[in-house]
Amino acid sequence: MPDVKLVGLKKSYGDIKAADGLDLEVKDGEYLCVLGPTGAGKTTLLRMISGLLVPDRGKIFFDGKDFTRVEIEERKAALLSQTYALFPQLTVEENIMFGLDIRGADEKLKEQVLISMLDLVRLSGRSDAYPRELSGGMQQRTALARALASGADLLLLDEPLRALDARLRISLRTELRSLVKTLKMTAIHVTHDQDEALVMADRVAVIREGRILQIGTPKEVWDEPATPFVANFVGQSNFFTGEVLQSSPFTLIRTPEGTVLKGRPSELTPGTTAVLGVKIGNTDISKERKGYLKAKVERIIFEGRNLHVDLMMDNGQRISSKVPSWRKGKIAPGDAVDVYWEESKGTVFPMPPNGLENELKVE
Ligand code: ATP
Repeated sequence: MPDVKLVGLKKSYGDIKAADGLDLEVKDGEYLCVLGPTGAGKTTLLRMISGLLVPDRGKIFFDGKDFTRVEIEERKAALLSQTYALFPQLTVEENIMFGLDIRGADEKLKEQVLISMLDLVRLSGRSDAYPRELSGGMQQRTALARALASGADLLLLDEPLRALDARLRISLRTELRSLVKTLKMTAIHVTHDQDEALVMADRVAVIREGRILQIGTPKEVWDEPATPFVANFVGQSNFFTGEVLQSSPFTLIRTPEGTVLKGRPSELTPGTTAVLGVKIGNTDISKERKGYLKAKVERIIFEGRNLHVDLMMDNGQRISSKVPSWRKGKIAPGDAVDVYWEESKGTVFPMPPNGLENELKVE
């Protein structure tokens, strides 16, 4: 049933445009993550798909049929909201089985579903507990299992792993995804956590101010960001501005100081102002190699696997680099370094109409 198609969805609250013309297609069996900062309109999107909220404009199609004004119960969608209201008078087991119970599933199937759900959410020993006896994370896991066991075709998940500790969150990512695939459900999973989206999704939709900026595979969104905002929100980036000298076979831009920088080919017109974005993990530094830009090491933060290095360029701009931890001791604050990247790792954008600073702002 759920090939989901949204066409021009709009929803405003006074002056706030929570959905500002959303177009989206989700294929049957797809795991889509909607990634965006707080206030981007992620919850509004899910609530409109679930039927809890009627859009001001636009249409929602399930499997080609117009469901825009169809009642919640008819949608075969299970929404796991951030408030995950469990039934307080029911145990963990009864809560999980609620959806299947009302659909009158047979006992054997129920038993199997219950065991795999309790196992997935690590609550096998707590099936007789009531919600008030559980921690916040356990309640969230119960609600997640309830949504998965509901028999719905479409799973709408609003930050489903939010209340969990880091280790459990990471292990549940893969298990949740594979269970959704095994159950042949379609999932729309909303998160502000880029790692979660990249690891779990077949495709990622990046949303901001009620608009989808880009939709693509995790690799596409990571390697070929559509806008500077996406480049910075999905993996932090450094940005350099300059004048376009050429756009193919690779793009060259000249900074105001006269340094020529390289990036992937683009469609930009020579003579226009452009922004070149490079992920901090692709921004390398060296004391020996002659690179594009000169900078001084200001601060080094040990992050386990990597060192996060803050740099001050000669023109006063601050940038960062992420290098492997084995380089600890080989670079130190105060060192003069050259900054460079592979040209295929630089993405060139036209200067955003409102300027780079506004473009990058996260509300
Ligand atoms: P978060 O990650 O913080 O949950 P979000 O991306 O889910 O954010 P929404 O909850 O969809 O964002 O909200 C989008 C915008 O709409 C926000 O500016 C929010 O304040 C506003 N908004 C949402 N619901 C209402 C409401 N009932 N009344 C007024 N404004 C609302």
